[in-house]
Amino acid sequence: MLGHINFEDLELKFGYSCMPNRLHYYSKEENDFRMEVREWCEINVVPVAEQIDRNRDKELAVKTLKKMPYLDMTIPKEAGGQGKAILYRTILGEELTAFSYALAGVYGASSCLFAGPIIEFGTSGQKKKYLSGIGNGSKLGAIAITEPTGGSDAIGGMRLRAIRDGDHYILNGEKCFITNGSVADYLCLYTITNDQVRSHKGMTAFIFETDTPGFEVVKDYKHMGRRGMPNSHLRFTNCRVSVENMLHKENEGLDVLLYGLDGERTFTASQYVGLARSAFEIAYRYAHKREQFGKTLYKMEGISFKLAEMFMDIELNRIAMVQIARMLDNGHYLRATVAALKAKIADATVRITQEAIQVVGGLGYTEEYPLERYYRDAKIGQISAGTSEIMRYLITREMVRMWGK
Ligand SMILES: Cc1cc2nc3c(=O)[nH]c(=O)nc-3n(C[C@H](O)[C@H](O)[C@H](O)COP(=O)(O)OP(=O)(O)OC[C@H]3O[C@@H](n4cnc5c(N)ncnc54)[C@H](O)[C@@H]3O)c2cc1C
Repeated sequence: MLGHINFEDLELKFGYSCMPNRLHYYSKEENDFRMEVREWCEINVVPVAEQIDRNRDKELAVKTLKKMPYLDMTIPKEAGGQGKAILYRTILGEELTAFSYALAGVYGASSCLFAGPIIEFGTSGQKKKYLSGIGNGSKLGAIAITEPTGGSDAIGGMRLRAIRDGDHYILNGEKCFITNGSVADYLCLYTITNDQVRSHKGMTAFIFETDTPGFEVVKDYKHMGRRGMPNSHLRFTNCRVSVENMLHKENEGLDVLLYGLDGERTFTASQYVGLARSAFEIAYRYAHKREQFGKTLYKMEGISFKLAEMFMDIELNRIAMVQIARMLDNGHYLRATVAALKAKIADATVRITQEAIQVVGGLGYTEEYPLERYYRDAKIGQISAGTSEIMRYLITREMVRMWGK
């Protein structure tokens, strides 16, 4: 009878061994890209993923990410990037997260959430100045929306104020939970520029350079998961930002904020797929090796059905994600559909990472296996980029918009 199985003895090529390498719903080019990213992650991420988590090592996370050759993937060709679409970003999101969710978070905040609005709304000067560094890994970006007074109601609760002073604005206020906040060179920063109207009509986006006097990192939060991904509380005291750094138009920051939201949420969904996949693969392999009562765990329906449930969630959510990404790339408006995907896969990933520990038993609960990390990591999917409740709220609103009462 086989005893406990060491993680190394699973003969698992970490992150992807038992899922088919080439999936029929991707084209050859897309599958080739999946394989290429995996190979890069195996060489560059596997040796550091655990250290980044255990030591909350943000420097190592940033250093590793800056070497990644896909940082310019979504930056348009005219700004020196590869100009790839949303589908490619979901492939990258799944693969990178299968190895390290922390790294995928640093990537997402910089290359998607910071760069995205500049790609769409930036002047040619702004694009040239701020995107090339993001694309070549010499600079990092972040997006700063959330404040202590404005979480789910980010816009209604926004208090960070920008007051015009000649050809500058003077900023005062705070932002919290900002991914990359303590390591970013630039922020896509949302502020109130007119407090006499509803904040939806008085908000403006700026590109903010973090070496500006008066900018302060109050602290990095210590999270239960995604450790090593810096996430910070920031303070702005009389910070001066040039009018030239305004993104889009004064008081029209809502356009910037709403732009690309569906693409971003589809990207976050791809991260949850990657995390769920890694947990599933370990549980699957373990169940085939571990014996109790004279047979492998996989021969017991109480276990194999758990694995079948995991497969159902991963496979169907991934197919939905690929279809949604293709439709977004073709210009469809899919607010409710994307919210449904994000909420569904976030909930499923919490379940899958938890059940994977159950399949492995005591060892799954230890640091001998990365499953406890995946379980800790999974929870954030139900909170960031809009909570699971807010996804449902959005869906109720969209249903009325689409079909009336
Ligand atoms: C790890 C991490 C990374 C993040 N990265 C960033 C970032 O890079 N940039 C950024 O700007 N922000 C970021 N955030 C902030 C994140 O978007 C917010 O935490 C999130 O939107 C929820 O806001 P809150 O935490 O203030 O919770 P609250 O809004 O206070 O919500 C508390 C609870 O009430 C529920 N709730 C609130 N309103 C409703 C409603 N109308 N109906 C039903 N339930 C409701 C929520 O779903 C939640 O369960 C990050 C957060 C974390 C933890």
